[in-house]
Amino acid sequence: MSIQSVNPANGKIVKSYREDPPDKVIRKIGQTHKAWLSWKESSFGERAVLMDKLAARLHAERDKLAALMAVEMGKPLKDGLAEIDKCAAVCQYYAGNASAFLQDQLVTTEAAKSYVSFQPLGTVLAVMPWNFPFWQVFRFLAPALMAGNCGVLKHASNVPGCALAIEQMVKDAGFPAHVFQTLLIGSKAVAAVIEHPLVKAVTLTGSTVAGTKVAAQAGLLLKKTVLELGGSDPYLVLEDADLEMAADVCASSRLINNGQSCIAAKRFIVAKKIEREFTSLFVDRIKQRKIGDPFETGTDLGPMARADLRDELHAQVLKNTEMGAKCILGGKVPARKGEHAYYEPTVLTNIKKGMPAYSEELFGPVAAILTARDTEHAISLANDTSFGLGAAVFTSNVQLGEEIARNKLQAGSCFVNSLVKSDPHLPFGGINQSGYGRELGMFGIHEFVNIKTVYVK
Ligand code: NDP
Repeated sequence: MSIQSVNPANGKIVKSYREDPPDKVIRKIGQTHKAWLSWKESSFGERAVLMDKLAARLHAERDKLAALMAVEMGKPLKDGLAEIDKCAAVCQYYAGNASAFLQDQLVTTEAAKSYVSFQPLGTVLAVMPWNFPFWQVFRFLAPALMAGNCGVLKHASNVPGCALAIEQMVKDAGFPAHVFQTLLIGSKAVAAVIEHPLVKAVTLTGSTVAGTKVAAQAGLLLKKTVLELGGSDPYLVLEDADLEMAADVCASSRLINNGQSCIAAKRFIVAKKIEREFTSLFVDRIKQRKIGDPFETGTDLGPMARADLRDELHAQVLKNTEMGAKCILGGKVPARKGEHAYYEPTVLTNIKKGMPAYSEELFGPVAAILTARDTEHAISLANDTSFGLGAAVFTSNVQLGEEIARNKLQAGSCFVNSLVKSDPHLPFGGINQSGYGRELGMFGIHEFVNIKTVYVK
């Protein structure tokens, strides 16, 4: 069996990799466990030195790594460079903060001494997606290694080059052998990894379908999981919003990574009174984006990551229009030769309950505009979803915006007058079908530790 990276800009095979056979996977898990037995004894200071070196490696190799993403999943170079810089930042963040996050916490009881201590669990399996092939891995890897855990990575099958590059960088930074390894396996081979007794926990970022399968098996085996799944983030544009600013931010958020982001804005819930003006400003912004070769300077949107994902997205768009939605921009698969997985940025209006854009995730450059009678209606439309990853509200009444973000919107991250983004300092994750558990910040590093009570009479 082989795993192939295919350039989504032209459909050509970039490289084929031999899949790791089952015995090799078992051997790698054993090696990583052995590495953990020493790694868990290392000090925070020793780990931090290596984590800072890893950040330096990322900076040194940023051009090469951005090019790898461009060729394997179509990300424009400038976005790839920004992603690598963010990975370096998360390494530095946990190098600087892990020790404070994981200090023993004294608790006064009737004991002579009682406290909480945070102990590593062992080897954690990370099942990761292709959309941010470095960032998704690093936001797991940095806190995991700093907490004294080790990791095995099952990366998405279309980005094996990125997976191996991460493993190599960890080695080059000077980490002990095998503390972090890539398993070159397809999704069918994941069950055996979860089942392995030396794999103590699993984190998955990806679709809700993949998340439920992995969590079901891990649940039966009583292994802890963190799931960061899809989203259909609502952006509420209220009557008093600064429409120019809202249109800028909404267009940027919808088109992050060519729309292939769990926290991209997906449903725009716009007050009826300003809908026409907002839509026109929004469409103008979308039209300004330059579609092209990810290697060309100035390209904003490359191809989507895979042709099958583009086809699925186009089918969703067609289903909406068949049900009465209006397609006011795009909606076409470009026919030009060589443009393998490209999709035109698309804007759908007149979205109603029952249409796919109302309830499903549109994982690509397609915006869905919904009309709200008033603020209460906008909030109820926003919450009428099975997802709950992020949400944003635009209003010039910041106090009202904060009230809506804090108390009314049901999602893991709620922003006011800003696009939803992940930041190493703040916890990130969802509720409902968007998953559970948190990554990043202090909460992220507490997910995969034994929160141990120590009691001395
Ligand atoms: P998947 O969820 O299928 O893939 C994500 C990761 O999970 C990959 O490593 C994949 O491996 C693995 N995986 C898939 N199925 C299983 C399984 N049954 N058991 C164990 N591992 C599994 O995403 P797709 O690439 O198919 O994209 C489909 C949709 O998923 C998108 O349209 C989007 O809605 C959502 N998605 C969400 C992301 C997010 O950031 N939350 C990121 C990517 C996708 P393999 O590649 O070998 O199949």
